[in-house]
Amino acid sequence: MPIKVLAPELVSKIAAGEVVERPASVVKELVENSLDAGASQISVEVQGGGVGLIKVSDNGAGIPALEVELAFHRYATSKISNSADLESIGSLGFRGEALPSIAAVAEVEIFTRNRSEAIGSYMYLRKGDIASRESRGRHQGTTVTVRRLFRYFPARLKFLKSVNTESSHIAHVVSQYALAFPEVRFSLLLDKHLSFHTAGNGDLRDVINQLYGLEVAQKMLKVTGTDVYLQVSGLVSPPPLARSNRNYLSFFVNQRWVRSPLLTRATEDAYRGLLIVGKHPMAIINISLPAGEVDVNVHPTKAQVKFRHEQAVFASVEEAIKGALSKTPLATTKAVPFATTPWQEIPSLPLRSAQGFGSPQRPGMISDNEPTFITPLPTIKLPVLRVVGQLANTYIIAEGPDGLYLIDQHAAHERILYERILAQWSQKEVEVQGLLQPITIELSPREEETLKTNQGILAQFGFAIESFGTRSYLIRAVPALMAKANLIETLSELLDNLASKENPTPWEEKIAASLACHSAIRAGQQLSNDEMRELIKQLEESRQPRTCPHGRPTMIHLSLHQLEKEFGRIS
Ligand code: ADP
Ligand code: MG
Repeated sequence: MPIKVLAPELVSKIAAGEVVERPASVVKELVENSLDAGASQISVEVQGGGVGLIKVSDNGAGIPALEVELAFHRYATSKISNSADLESIGSLGFRGEALPSIAAVAEVEIFTRNRSEAIGSYMYLRKGDIASRESRGRHQGTTVTVRRLFRYFPARLKFLKSVNTESSHIAHVVSQYALAFPEVRFSLLLDKHLSFHTAGNGDLRDVINQLYGLEVAQKMLKVTGTDVYLQVSGLVSPPPLARSNRNYLSFFVNQRWVRSPLLTRATEDAYRGLLIVGKHPMAIINISLPAGEVDVNVHPTKAQVKFRHEQAVFASVEEAIKGALSKTPLATTKAVPFATTPWQEIPSLPLRSAQGFGSPQRPGMISDNEPTFITPLPTIKLPVLRVVGQLANTYIIAEGPDGLYLIDQHAAHERILYERILAQWSQKEVEVQGLLQPITIELSPREEETLKTNQGILAQFGFAIESFGTRSYLIRAVPALMAKANLIETLSELLDNLASKENPTPWEEKIAASLACHSAIRAGQQLSNDEMRELIKQLEESRQPRTCPHGRPTMIHLSLHQLEKEFGRIS
């Protein structure tokens, strides 16, 4: 085929594809426009996962009647006018691509009144062309309504996920802007049901309360840090509030929501040694710096940024978060490895890490310097073991025909419960326990969507959960095996786990692993000889007794041969 310049219509479709990947991208662009217009109230309404309807209303500056049509021209923007402006962008939008891109793939209605005008303008566009236009009265601000998204793009439509999944992406996007702009009042209506709203009083903890619940709002730690030219601020979770995916990491640069591997790494580095493998912190971090220090013109979705001084940003963020964490009771818990705090699990972290079983700072344990001492075990049946005693209320010492076994009581119990839960489920014989007093749980918008998507699956495991007002749910029954003490925590971890895309494990295994982990006996718990014997007996009957459901070892084995070698009896 000879080279030719593409027709403008085709060009706009190609460009639209970059900006509007899925319904949540439309919501993002419209909300950004409302924020750029200085709105203090933004309401978002969505139906059918955004494919049916997306409506974003604001009380911002509005568009002058003479400019409404121009707003839908490609590369038409009121936000920058020369290349010097591009060097220091102070607004969220600047490419002039969103409205034309959305209009190219949907039917769009705009109704706006500029603050300096007495009457508003209404315009309707179909396939990018103006279908009708008139003057109409309304209060100051703008409402953009998008219908039939991707109707004429069956290929894109085919790639969309279920309504619940798309709604959950939208809820995530709106939540992020609510976190970035606590001074703006947001509301999100999903299929006529209020997903969340924020007060707009400028208090980040209030927004967190609405999104993640009161406990998280109260426990988050304040982050502040100032460098020569940048400021880091926000809230991060104390280690016990850690989650099983990275959905709770929110980064903003001059209040722009960004996805940044650099900032993710800086945050996770600040938590090094404080979280179990597979756990991630919650963090809401904003970095304020002169616009010239950061390039936002990296990608059409403007979700990536390039810092001029990457290292300095990295160090400041890590430093600021470490500062926040150092003010928690964490420091003491670290020093007393087996304290019976509510998060006793953390001390057993180095033991169960992937690299080695020992940790030098642990009294009485084998250190990392002697790795040849211990052999990880292949997955084979356990011999019959005799319980000798308990070490540090955490490990069971047992003797077998071939030496000494040191068993992590939590990991071992986790394995037992995991297999039992899966067995009951596969035989459709899950034991259910009704709760005399139903428990109320408040879910984040995202958790709520995950719950809706997985309600049938959870029912198979014995959960009976019903809606009880705005994002409130009543737990009426749970799997009988489940520990009742931390029911709410278990359920929200379970929902996180189900929502996690980083973890490709089948859903039944995710559920069983979460339930097992939260219901198993803890490190730090004293066990009687009978209890230890029973635990070992059940472990012997397990199919994979030597690893916990996360693949970490349940035990360390020192063979008689190794002992003889270590004691110099043989060479
Ligand atoms: P950009 O945001 O990059 O400028 P858009 O296509 O998103 O490009 O919007 C084009 C223009 O329309 C904006 O520059 C702005 O002047 C105007 N506009 C869009 N949405 C709104 C809104 N909600 N309130 C006021 N003006 C708006
Ligand atoms: Mg825009």
